[in-house]
Amino acid sequence: MSDAGKKRLTCDMLPLAMPRPCPICGAKVLLISVTEWGADDGEILGTEFECETEPDIDSDEWPGWHRGHYSMPYVDWLPWDTAAVAWLNRRYRYAGS
Ligand SMILES: [Zn+2]
Repeated sequence: MSDAGKKRLTCDMLPLAMPRPCPICGAKVLLISVTEWGADDGEILGTEFECETEPDIDSDEWPGWHRGHYSMPYVDWLPWDTAAVAWLNRRYRYAGS
């Protein structure tokens, strides 16, 4: 695959808003970090996404939020995640910091 036309994505550009809304609540989803990428070609392999409605993990709202958002992660999130990573890889190559 050619790198022509792909932009460099670096960690200081994160969080990055994704074009597809959250599959659960329709809010914006942010790319928080790239956890794994190709050393040679910058292909994005592992990512962390976060719905912008996610409350603080220590708060009382978090368990309920998590139950609502991640009761069926393979149904709700896996297709979303696959499409989001494909979208990223069409546009960007990850360059780390
Ligand atoms: Zn959401």
